[in-house]
Amino acid sequence: MIIDGKQIAQELRQTIANEVALLERKPGLAVILIGDDPASAVYVRNKGIACKEAGFYSEKINKPASITQAALLSEIERLNNDDKIDGILVQLPLPQHLDANLVIEAINPAKDVDGFHSENIGKLMQNNPFLRPCTPKGVMTMLKTTGVDLAGKHCVVVGASNIVGRPMAMELLNARATVTICNSKTQDLSGKLKQADIVVAAVGIANMIQGDWIKSGAIVIDVGINKLDNGHLVGDVDFESAQKVADWITPVPGGVGPMTIATLLENTLTAYKARKEK
Ligand code: NDP
Repeated sequence: MIIDGKQIAQELRQTIANEVALLERKPGLAVILIGDDPASAVYVRNKGIACKEAGFYSEKINKPASITQAALLSEIERLNNDDKIDGILVQLPLPQHLDANLVIEAINPAKDVDGFHSENIGKLMQNNPFLRPCTPKGVMTMLKTTGVDLAGKHCVVVGASNIVGRPMAMELLNARATVTICNSKTQDLSGKLKQADIVVAAVGIANMIQGDWIKSGAIVIDVGINKLDNGHLVGDVDFESAQKVADWITPVPGGVGPMTIATLLENTLTAYKARKEK
């Protein structure tokens, strides 16, 4: 069966919009875009559209690629102190002369709706999460729709980046799964995958994971987004062969991607509520 990320994301966005309609103040999200990378511009535009549809207040802040680190940090400080803004997101990747770690650490953790600040990652590690990285959190929402209890399941996460693989593994561990995290040096990847009840692929290599690497009845979550020479988007999993063995599988496009944006709205609402309670 297909896990329809588009549909699940749409329902989540509608639930958020219904809740926002009842609030006295609109939750505010500021998205900072540095430079003119076309892919980043598309992501930022889609986030703006999603905000508008959900009834959020949103600010898009465009800065040239030549911006200095100091100027970017002072822009973040301004937003940290702006009461209309509940969530701040700096679209990654940044131009080489800017230090992404310093930039992320400059965001007030209470407004860190990407969930990348060390304080929020630390809370996730301690199984006391507050703002959780959007893509892995979105995957957890998708897994919930299958009705499968994750406790005791063997999950293999392929990829160990700070934004997907590592927090994904932590989310699964927090759900009491048994987790294996793989990276580019992992030996016998196919053997490890063959033992997995749940596979999460976040590598960035088109169609790398083949159907005969997957255990019969597994759940397969494909985070990868890879553009082929013919312009088509595919995941890290070879969908055709994998869907024949998996019980549940996410498509690309229309799988994890839409969930990431819906979860960003969810996080902004969480940040809004937490600030209101203070
Ligand atoms: P990164 O490039 O930051 O990380 C890739 C990870 O994959 C690294 O840990 C790397 O290992 C590992 N890796 C590389 N080659 C292999 C291999 N042959 N076998 C096993 N592991 C390998 O990528 P991201 O995590 O940022 O993104 C991964 C994919 O997910 C991309 O396609 C990206 O576009 C997509 N993505 C999708 C999102 C969505 O919303 N759907 C959101 C974010 C990303 P090592 O640590 O050793 O280098």
